[in-house]
Amino acid sequence: RIVSGEAENTEEQSFEQSLRPRLLKTYIGQNQVKNNLEIFIEAARNRQETLDHVLLYGPPGLGKTTLAAVIANEMGVNLRTTAGPAIERPGDLAAILSALEPGDVLFIDEIHRLPRAIEEVLYPAMEDFCLDIVIGTGPSARSVRLDLPPFTLVGATTRAGAISAPLRDRFGVLCRLEYYEERDLVTIVRRTADIFDTAIDDQGALEIARRSRGTPRIANRLLKRVRDYAQVRAQGAITYPIAQQSLELLQVDRLGLDHIDHKLLMAIIERFKGGPVGLDTIAASIGEESTSIEDVYEPYLLQIGFLQRTPRGRIVTENVYRHFKLEVPK
Ligand code: ATP
Repeated sequence: RIVSGEAENTEEQSFEQSLRPRLLKTYIGQNQVKNNLEIFIEAARNRQETLDHVLLYGPPGLGKTTLAAVIANEMGVNLRTTAGPAIERPGDLAAILSALEPGDVLFIDEIHRLPRAIEEVLYPAMEDFCLDIVIGTGPSARSVRLDLPPFTLVGATTRAGAISAPLRDRFGVLCRLEYYEERDLVTIVRRTADIFDTAIDDQGALEIARRSRGTPRIANRLLKRVRDYAQVRAQGAITYPIAQQSLELLQVDRLGLDHIDHKLLMAIIERFKGGPVGLDTIAASIGEESTSIEDVYEPYLLQIGFLQRTPRGRIVTENVYRHFKLEVPK
C-alpha cells in the first residue's frame, strides 16, 4: 500500500537510512518536541550526565527512529537499536544492556510489544542502572545484582495506551509526534529531491506534500514514484502536472486517500447509513482486521475530520460526502 505509514521492506529501509537527518537543526518540523529536546540535551551535556529516558509516540513514519538517532548524535554517543518483538527472553535484554557503553542511547522500537517478564528486567535498569539476575533454580536460586553503565533508553510506540503504567512512569521525557504540516512536508520533499539530484518546482513539491497524509515516510515514497514518472514522461523535472498525473496513476487522491480508505468510508455510507457502526462490524464488512483499521487506516481519517469516534461506533462526517461528491444526508 503506497500510502501506508509503515516501512514496506528492507529496500525501503535502506533508502530511508540515506535520507535521515542527523541533527536537531536539520530535523524538519515537530517544533515543540525539538524545542524541548534541545533544552534537555544541552542541560544533560553541560552537566556531563546522560539524558533522561525518552518515550516517543505517534503514528508510524513520523520520524521516531530518526529522532532517536538524532538524540544519540547530539549527545555524541553510540546508538544501539532493537525492537520489542525481537527480545524474547529476559536474557536477551540482559545481554543487550550489559554490552552498552557509558552514555549510549538504547533505542527500543515497538516498546509496547515487550513481554511483561522482560519489562520487569528493564525497571531496575532504567531506575538504578543495574540488573537483577537470578542464578540457579529451586531452593538454591539466588539473586545477583549487576551494575550497568548509565545509558538513555529511547522507546518508540505507535500506541501510547498499550504501554503499562509502571513502564511509562519510568520515562522522564514523553514526546508525542504529530502529523506534519503541509509546509514542513514541502521542505522534506524538496530536501529529498535535492539528495536525489532531481529538479522539482514549488507546485510539484506542494502536490506531493498534500497527498502524503502528514507523514514524511509517505512523502519520500511518493516522491520516488513521481521521480520515475518524470524521468520516463518529462525529461526528469517534477512540475505540478507531472506530480498530479503520476499520483492519479498511483490512485492516491488529492487528500492522500487510496482505495482502502475509499472502501472503508463507502462501506460505512452504503451499508450502515453513515454510522454509527462498531469497529468490528466495519472490519468484518470490508475483510480487514479491526486492529489494522484502528492503528493504520483510521488515525489519518480521524485527523482530517472524515471519521468521528463516538461511544456507539464510527460515524462518517459531511466532509466525506463532499469529497466523494455525494449528496449530504439530512
Ligand atoms: P516507524 O515507527 O514505522 O519505524 P518512524 O516514526 O520511526 O517509523 P522514521 O523511520 O524515523 O519513522 O522516518 C521515516 C522516513 O521519514 C525516513 O526516511 C526519514 O528520513 C524521514 N523523516 C522522518 N522525519 C523526518 C524529519 N523530521 N525531517 C526529514 N525527514 C524525516
